[in-house]
Amino acid sequence: MLSRIGKQLKNFFVISVEEKYQNDFINEINSINSSRVKVCSVTFIVCEVVVIILSFLIKQENLLSRPDLYYLLMYIILTMGMVGFLLSFIKLGKNIQQNKKKIQVGAVLFACFILFWCAGISLLDQLSYGQIVVYLSAIICIGVIPFFRTIVLLLIYVGAEAFFLILQPYFQESAEIIFGNGINSFTFIVFALVISRMRYKSIAEDFQNKRIIQEKNALLEEKSIRMNDINKLLIETNQRLKDLSQRDYLTGVYNRSMFDQTLRVEWDRCKRHHIPLTLMMVDIDFFKQFNDTYGHQAGDECIKRVAEVLSLCARRSSDVITRYGGDEFVLILPHMNRESALSLAEELSRRVRELFIPHANSTVSDCLTVSVGANTLIPSEKSTIQELFRNADKALYEAKLTRDKIVINQ
Ligand code: GH3
Ligand code: MG
Repeated sequence: MLSRIGKQLKNFFVISVEEKYQNDFINEINSINSSRVKVCSVTFIVCEVVVIILSFLIKQENLLSRPDLYYLLMYIILTMGMVGFLLSFIKLGKNIQQNKKKIQVGAVLFACFILFWCAGISLLDQLSYGQIVVYLSAIICIGVIPFFRTIVLLLIYVGAEAFFLILQPYFQESAEIIFGNGINSFTFIVFALVISRMRYKSIAEDFQNKRIIQEKNALLEEKSIRMNDINKLLIETNQRLKDLSQRDYLTGVYNRSMFDQTLRVEWDRCKRHHIPLTLMMVDIDFFKQFNDTYGHQAGDECIKRVAEVLSLCARRSSDVITRYGGDEFVLILPHMNRESALSLAEELSRRVRELFIPHANSTVSDCLTVSVGANTLIPSEKSTIQELFRNADKALYEAKLTRDKIVINQ
């Protein structure tokens, strides 16, 4: 039971934050104390100047007689002291971290100065009114305005109280009033101590919670950045996969499935804009014999080189080259009329021939050749994709009758 009470009292009076936040917490307390000292100094300066002026106006020649003279001196001391603290804290407040110790000492001196000054005024009051309201107010203010560790605050209060109690008999004759004042100031100190510990505890907890939230936020932010990166990577990978799924593994040109999709899109586009569309089929001549003669690997190489030639010839952004299967390529060529189709077919047929790939078993040439069949039309309600394809296929079939030939249907 006793140990529990002792523990709770310890918890109440020994307030600290986690080791890792200690330094920042001291800086935070110093920053608050520093700005509060400045605000209080300005307030005191303004009040004291007003009080001094009023004293001059009201008391006039009586001002220099005792005890008014003592009061005047006290006001002047307070004003000067406050000016000193204000100037010092303006300077120290510029670099809280660097002036850590000076600010701590300065704040303690400020609290002592206020408390001792108010105790002094209350002692003077004993000569006339017998009240200690100024000292009691200062006790509460020092407990509420600045933040000090328990031991520091206790020492300040004990020092001021000792000063007040020891000097009181020199200013107050009544033993009853002296006793009453002692009880009152002691009670106020106890209350001020409790209030100040409550405030200190809550600021320490707030500070620590704020730090924990900040750390968690930073962690979340880091995670969200990582997630964003992963998302970006996934999008890129998906795009690459999609692209790969549309490409022919051997040649890199588009594959059959892409052919079906693109032809439908281009057909509709050309139909909408009333522009010609050419479908061109390119097939290697006697490729089976090529494979048989030079082997399958040489055949693969050959297909790749033909695909390169096609990519070189059909280079407009709208031209789409697809490997339809085996040694057959189909080119979707929007905005291409029959004349252009013919010259393109001639160019690619020539360029394939100029690769000078030996083909000993071809009956039409010593080198590799292709046959080209194409159909050009302006898509409309009267025509169909099937018709376009059939006509191109027919043209290729016709070209294949002799091989190394170009046939364009219209
Ligand atoms: P034609 O002049 O009438 O076109 O005769 P062709 O021999 O070229 O035509 P055919 O359709 O009879 O033969 C095509 C050959 O292409 C058959 C097949 O072995 C070969 N082929 C298909 N795909 C590949 C491939 O990816 N690599 C290789 N090396 N050969 C392939
Ligand atoms: Mg062939």
